[in-house]
Parts: sequence; C-alpha cells; structure tokens
Amino acid sequence: EAKKETLGFQTEVKQLLHLMIHSLYSNREIFLRELISNASDAADKLRYEALHNSALLNSDPNLEIRVDFDKDAKTVTIADNGIGMNREDVIAHLGTIAKSGTADFLSTLTGDQKKDSQLIGQFGVGFYSAFIVADKVTVETRKAGSEEGVCWVSDGSGEFTVEPIDKEKRGTTIILHLKPEAEEFADGWRLRNIIRKYSDHISMPILMRKEEMPAGDDEEKDVKDATPEWETVNTAKALWTRSRSEITDDEYKEFYKHISHDHTDPLKWSHNRVEGKLEYNSLLYIPGKAPFDLYNRDMQKGLKLYVQRVFIMDQADEFLPMYLRFIKGVVDSNDLSLNVSREILQKDPAVDSMKTALTKRVLDMLEKLAKKEPEAYASFWKEFGQVLKEGPAEDYANRERIAKLLRFSSTESTGTDQDQSLEGYVSRMKEDQDKIYYITAETPKAAANSPHLEVFRKKGLEVLLLSDRVDEWLMSHLFEFDGNSFVDIGRGDLDLGKLDSEDEKKAQEEAAKENEDLVKRIKDVLGADVEEVRVTHRLTDSPACLVVGQNDMGMQMRRIMEAAGQ
Ligand code: ADP
Ligand code: MG
Repeated sequence: EAKKETLGFQTEVKQLLHLMIHSLYSNREIFLRELISNASDAADKLRYEALHNSALLNSDPNLEIRVDFDKDAKTVTIADNGIGMNREDVIAHLGTIAKSGTADFLSTLTGDQKKDSQLIGQFGVGFYSAFIVADKVTVETRKAGSEEGVCWVSDGSGEFTVEPIDKEKRGTTIILHLKPEAEEFADGWRLRNIIRKYSDHISMPILMRKEEMPAGDDEEKDVKDATPEWETVNTAKALWTRSRSEITDDEYKEFYKHISHDHTDPLKWSHNRVEGKLEYNSLLYIPGKAPFDLYNRDMQKGLKLYVQRVFIMDQADEFLPMYLRFIKGVVDSNDLSLNVSREILQKDPAVDSMKTALTKRVLDMLEKLAKKEPEAYASFWKEFGQVLKEGPAEDYANRERIAKLLRFSSTESTGTDQDQSLEGYVSRMKEDQDKIYYITAETPKAAANSPHLEVFRKKGLEVLLLSDRVDEWLMSHLFEFDGNSFVDIGRGDLDLGKLDSEDEKKAQEEAAKENEDLVKRIKDVLGADVEEVRVTHRLTDSPACLVVGQNDMGMQMRRIMEAAGQ
C-alpha cells in the first residue's frame, strides 16, 4: 500500500487557487504569515494532545518554527515540530476545502481583481497562499505518534501527489520553490522583516539562521555553514498576556488575522485581565466584515480557549451568547482544568460567570463605538445588525442595553438605511405621545409606502419601518423602551389616544355610524375571507387597507410559516 499516488484537487480548491494567484499578487508576502500561522496552530494542537499523552512531546519537547531559505536553489522552507499529518490528513486538508460557506463565497466573486482580493481575504487564504509565490510546493510531514512520513507535492495547477517517506522527526516542513518573479523572498533580511511585521505575536519562537558577515573570508564561512546558529526573530510571547500599553494597534490587528483566519482588519477590540474570584485574560474583536457563513448553522463561532497559556480548543461557544456569535477572540483562564472538555464547559458555573462578564464587555465595546464613532458603528450595524436583533429574545437580562444599540429605518430616515436609534425616536416624540409606532413589511419600500402610514404622516408622528426577517421576532420580545410601549400600526384597531382631538374622535364615531350599512354589505360579500370590516381613520388617501388581528401572527411570520410548509 505504500506507494505514490496522484490525486486531483476538489473543484473549489482549483477555483480558489486560480483566483488567489491572480488577485493577491500585490500582497504576496502574506503567504509567510499563513504558513507560520498553520505551524503555530499545529504546535498548539500537539501541546493539547500531549496533556493526555505526554510521550508525544517527550522526544522533541521545545516547540518552535524554523524559517530558512536557499538563494541558489531559490527556496524558502518553513518547518515546525507540531502535530504533523498522516496520509489521510494530508489528502483531506491539502486537497479540499471543508469550510462552510465555500459555495456562497465563490458565487460572490466578480472577476474584478480588487473586489475579489478583498473577498478572498475575508474568506481566509490559508495554506493555498503558498502558490502565490511558489510554482511548486513540497510538504514533508509526520504525525506525532506515527512512524511513517508523507510527502505531498503540487504545482498548484490541479493535481498533487502523495507518497510515503522516511522522516526523522514529527512535524511538518514546507518547501516553497519560488517562481522566478518571487525570488526576492529567498533573502534573510526580507523574511525577517515579514516575520516581524505579521507574526511577531506568535507565542512560540520563530527561528532563523544567524546571518554570516557579508565580507567574511571563505574558511570562516565554511565553519559557520557546518554548524548553523539559529536565533529567535519574534517576541515569542502570547500577545494577550502582555500589557495593553506595550501592544501596538498593528500587533492587535495581526493577532486578529491569525486567530480569525480573516485577513481584513478588525473594527474594534477589547483586551482585559480579570483578577479576583475568577482569573482570566480576554481579548475580544469585532470583525470589520461579516463572514460568508454568518447565517449558516455550522459557522465557525466562539472563542479560542486557553487554560494557563495552553491551547485547549477553537470555537468554544460557551463564552458568548448566540447573538454575539460574530465576535472573535481568545479567553485564557487560570481556573479551568487543563482537562476541560466541551461537556464540562457546558456545566461549569465558572464558565457562566465568564459568559456574563464577556457579554458585558462586548456590549460596553458596542456602546462606546456607537457613542464615539457613529460611522464605524453604522458600518458594524450593516454587517451584524440583524444578528444583534436576536439579542432581546435570547438575553433577557441585557434587553434594555441591547435595545439602545438597535438601529431602525424610520419615516425620519432619508433613505432606507437603518440609522435611527430608539433614544432618537423617543427624543422626537410628540407631547402626548407615549407609544413607539412601527410597521412591518416584506421590503423597506413596501414599509415606506404602506397606506397605514397615512394618518401618521398627517399628524407628523414618526413610525419605525421594519422589513428584516428577524424583525417580528424581535418585536415580539421588545415590549417597551424608556416607558413607551411598542405599537404595530398594521394590527387591530388603531387607538391614537390623546393624539386624536375630541373633534376627531367625534367625527370618527359619526363616520362609523353613517357607514354601518356599507360595512355590513362589504362583510356579506367577503364572507368568511375576513374576520371583521371596520370604518377606519387610518387612511387619508387610500380607500381601504388590510390589517392583522391584534393577537394574530404577523404577516412576515405567516409567510415564513407558509414557506416552511405549515
Ligand atoms: P486553516 O488554517 O484555516 O484551517 P489552511 O488552509 O491554512 O486552513 O490549512 C488547512 C489545514 O491543513 C489546517 O487546518 C491543518 O489541518 C492542515 N495544516 C496546514 N499546515 C499544517 C501544519 N504545518 N501542520 C499540521 N497541519 C497543517
Ligand atoms: Mg491556516
């Protein structure tokens, strides 16, 4: 069975490779960040496995990454002594894309290089970015605990080979055979700079050979080549354990890219050390862009969990509520056990307290953003507002705070942007007004053109225009804001209370009386199709409109149920 095999890339990989090579050439140096990021992940995974099986680490206990180059051979090599891969792993991880949302992502690509390169960045470039600079990539790897090594080779054009090899130590070595136009990367100075720029935060040492003196005599050079000396080129300390004042914005941004696999900048972050009853460090980020799978059930959500600096798991989603699932970050606890599992996390009261505290941190961060940087908040809202709208239903305790963060389109908005806060609405309320009026419809346009708005326009009363899928769900969990209850103006009988004058009320009653016969006739004709026919004062121009009963399911909800075959 030990033989060489040629296999084809999954179609999506071929598409991605093609795009990457053609649209990322202006930012080629990121290949190194991606490969170092993988090497660091591999070391984290090994350290975790070794908690249960220390033999895995014993033979070669100092986890590190070595970056080397050969100017003559035109190669760059990235070697780690992390978890490594076996034949199956290699075929699965370096031949397919397992990520959810891949098809969606590929379908959004436009062929416009600038736009596409941004989209690819958001999707995550990963291992395949090696082909931005290399026309041939060799991966030699051996999985911790296994005897056999595997060699993977590809030129990135559609196929790859896998073959068993002897490899002395566990871990992965990636050899990039540089394209002629990328030979500049076989250079110590250049590589050191790239590492310091993008990978300084990597918590294990990244080593490079010490550079020999440029004008040394030949004899001395030979001696040095025989015993190369290596030096650490990064800070090699877990970023979240350093103090905030020593960390630059660029370092925070690069760290975000490492943990999120997103190469666009984050919008904001919050870095905290908590001491006392519970001790932990947290570093939470609001991404700049929504991922492709934000609405996918199996989207990557949750934080990276460390216990006493040791990586435990990715996507620990017990530390934040669902409506904050877009937050990326790290939590490093001193209280949890190194043996903690997902099952234990779900039951541990310490995790609950951390979740409460981390949720507050995120809400603080959003409040600050909304107050101090309204434009950045508007861009956050465009990306993640719909998810935040799930908040009041899920998080009763924070309902008031979440409500303040909500943004809606209203009859006061100029376009259809969701740009009005409830506080803003309340500040514009009329003197006798004690209700917040809203309407729900299929589209922003349908909401803005609804005949139900006629009387509100006439009286100068603001109405929130809701047309997102989650809006009815949201409104069924928001009862009041700042003492004002919410009223759906598309429902039941409209009572404007004190906002109608005595004269208006009288006129309405008279109209109802006068038209009793007409109403009865319409009711007879429509029969069982309607529950009730009423004279209304909602309208000023339109002759008639449909309303939903006070306690009936809303229109949007009905459509959703119908679509689901109910
Ligand atoms: P991601 O890092 O987002 O998972 P990549 O494309 O960067 O995606 O890597 C794909 C997969 O290949 C990784 O998830 C990992 O399983 C495997 N892999 C890549 N590089 C290494 C490495 N140096 N050691 C072990 N596994 C690796
Ligand atoms: Mg990666």
